[in-house]
Amino acid sequence: MGSESRRRAILEIVRTDRTFERAEQGGRQIQVGKCLHCKARLSAGADGMPLGRATSEHILPRAHGGTGEPANLALACDRCNHEKARRHDHRPRDDVRRIEVTAKLQRIRLDRWRHPPGVMEPSAAHGPRCAAAAAAGRRSSFVSRKRSERE
Ligand SMILES: [Zn+2]
Repeated sequence: MGSESRRRAILEIVRTDRTFERAEQGGRQIQVGKCLHCKARLSAGADGMPLGRATSEHILPRAHGGTGEPANLALACDRCNHEKARRHDHRPRDDVRRIEVTAKLQRIRLDRWRHPPGVMEPSAAHGPRCAAAAAAGRRSSFVSRKRSERE
């Protein structure tokens, strides 16, 4: 992602993630919210520049078909983002653990979702599987199916 599209993505994230609130730091307007994983405090400039340890991440990795829609993006601290990449993102698409981790993060993201005008609903952005998950009490039907196969 280029820095311009990254800034745009971060602005979309803070608009649609209700943990983010406007704050002031040294006379400067910033947005302060929480890491998707560890809930550490993260901030971004009003222009979408990530500050400190804030990074943007794809919940479903691009390599597995994840899009740049806001519902698939979140702010994470650099450590959590790299840990997820190192431990999970490289696994095969049908890896049960990777699917569980993705489903959990999608659920957290949906729980934090807020609807500013002009931003697509997460179910529309995420496609039928996510809409089905929302209908099934926000638990991914895909993961439940995988679980029952093992039992
Ligand atoms: Zn974190």
